[in-house]
Amino acid sequence: MKALVLDATYFPVKIIDWKKAMTLFFTERAEVVDYHDDVEIRSPSSSFKLPKVLRLYKKVNSIGQVKFNRSNVFYRDKFKCQYCYKKFLAVDLTLDHVFPKSRGGETSWTNIVACCGKCNSKKADRTPEECGIKLLKTPKMPAWSPFLSFKLSKAEQKIFGSWFSLPR
Ligand SMILES: [Zn+2]
Repeated sequence: MKALVLDATYFPVKIIDWKKAMTLFFTERAEVVDYHDDVEIRSPSSSFKLPKVLRLYKKVNSIGQVKFNRSNVFYRDKFKCQYCYKKFLAVDLTLDHVFPKSRGGETSWTNIVACCGKCNSKKADRTPEECGIKLLKTPKMPAWSPFLSFKLSKAEQKIFGSWFSLPR
């Protein structure tokens, strides 16, 4: 059984297993907002329901960073090649170093963009300026969002999905 953790403002933070959820609750770091209705833990002396959604009491500042990886770059760039501006499927996209890696370009949010195979081979070891192309958008680290930070499985979507569409 899993539980969804919300920050103090009811914004989804992560999904944890029920043991961690109990720990958060019993160490008074979070309140239980919702329980799993269908599961109960029984012991000879008592029974209790498992927390389904917990809300942290304290503001969490450590969330703020989106993991830098391939699919998150594609999400940030909305699956558009940043050089020809067309939309592609993930399988048809590559990652490109705006300032070429061979010339010291960093592998980071600010130097990596989504790029189709055609543009990637055309651009090769040149900068966009040298190829006479303009970036669709200047690459930046995206603002934190639960959609970039964790993916829900279909089963989790069923259980926790509603917590992701709450107005803020
Ligand atoms: Zn392209």
